[in-house]
Amino acid sequence: MRTFFIAGNWKMNLIRESSVSLVRQLMETLTSVSGVDVAVCPPSVYLQEVGNTLRGSSLRLGAQNVSAAAEGAFTGEISCGMLKDVGCQYVILGHSERRTLYGETDAMVNEKLHAVLKAGLIPIVCVGETLAQREAGETQKVVREQCTGSLAGLTGEQMAKTVLAYEPVWAIGTGKTASPAQAEEVHADIRDLLSSQFGAAVANQVVIQYGGSVKADNAAELLGQPNIDGALVGGASLKADSFLAIVHAAAAIRK
Ligand code: PEP
Repeated sequence: MRTFFIAGNWKMNLIRESSVSLVRQLMETLTSVSGVDVAVCPPSVYLQEVGNTLRGSSLRLGAQNVSAAAEGAFTGEISCGMLKDVGCQYVILGHSERRTLYGETDAMVNEKLHAVLKAGLIPIVCVGETLAQREAGETQKVVREQCTGSLAGLTGEQMAKTVLAYEPVWAIGTGKTASPAQAEEVHADIRDLLSSQFGAAVANQVVIQYGGSVKADNAAELLGQPNIDGALVGGASLKADSFLAIVHAAAAIRK
């Protein structure tokens, strides 16, 4: 049985005051929501402040990126130990913006993934095809390659703890969403791949989020698909109303 997991990726948005205010609004409503895990992933400079604000509530904290290294001369980087120190439970890895803007490869994501799991944090590994790849009929190949490369060397136990996020690049921040059928097709294929690599018991435990312009008005249909176990939400996570509407859609389905 998989628990729905809704995570807000704030990217490089909000400042200290608006972050804390948003988290307070979320906490107020989440006290009455059960059966859904919910996290926010603020910019790293606000992790500590947001972590202090949400402490003791059901709302969880995640980071948007991390270094694979434990410590040392890595200017500008942040380690898993530092993230744990400020109360993080999750780390997003291999978001398409990191892959395209900062050159992150599957091998780099894989190195970070091993560091994250070793540190006892929960990774959210993002995969997804571009529009050109979808139009060329390469979605399955691309997503399978990203999964295989990013997840290399995991044990079944580690795989079961890893969250995946299928985020078609053409749907991120564009207002275009994969149809529920398009998303489900990829999610089911990812689960098949995991089943062949780690066995059905492990594959059935893995939470696979969908991401790409998830909003109040499309969340219920997407989350109603059998292999969609939550959402990684960008734009709609920046306002309490729109993010909570997605959380409520998940709670109403109660898989
Ligand atoms: C994301 O950043 O992971 C994302 C899915 O963004 P948006 O919801 O804005 O498309």
